[in-house]
Amino acid sequence: MDGNAERSARGTSDDSSCELNYPSLRKKRERLGQGPGALFYSMTQAGIAAVTSLEGPSIAQNREFGGVVYEDANGVFSYSNPQPGAVCSGGGSCEVNFDANNPEGTTYLATYHTHPNTSGAQEFSAQDINSDIDNNVFGFLGTPPKGRVLMFNPGLLVQFNTFGGGASPICVLQGPLLGGTSCK
Ligand SMILES: [Zn+2]
Repeated sequence: MDGNAERSARGTSDDSSCELNYPSLRKKRERLGQGPGALFYSMTQAGIAAVTSLEGPSIAQNREFGGVVYEDANGVFSYSNPQPGAVCSGGGSCEVNFDANNPEGTTYLATYHTHPNTSGAQEFSAQDINSDIDNNVFGFLGTPPKGRVLMFNPGLLVQFNTFGGGASPICVLQGPLLGGTSCK
């Protein structure tokens, strides 16, 4: 990158959220390591960043947000723009749809989504897990309390279900275990 361009980009203000509609400023935000498209060295880092950044709005707006985690041709990981689910109320379904909206030329590795603070929010739903199994992808879930992150690993499922052994396919990456298994 041109050094002058870098300096002038850093010199601009990005305090207003509406500025994110402009591609050049969105690119700046990506370089600074925030938001969809930011670069990570592992799928897990990208998944954690995606759901922890969205858990606040998810709880405040009482809806899920979700998207996908992907790997680019250079072996670097990121996550797609979050899609909002319907507002969760009245007992109807408010599950977010996982569009495989990763950029062209990248590999779709995982879904990510958040749960607002509703009943059963601390666990993946059956629909969440079935969707990840169908696509043979990992799943990252942000649940209340804010900052808690679960991971589903489809590669561990057969061993676990068939032989009743091995590591749990669902584990807690960070935050309180609440009866779950730590990923560590
Ligand atoms: Zn879910």
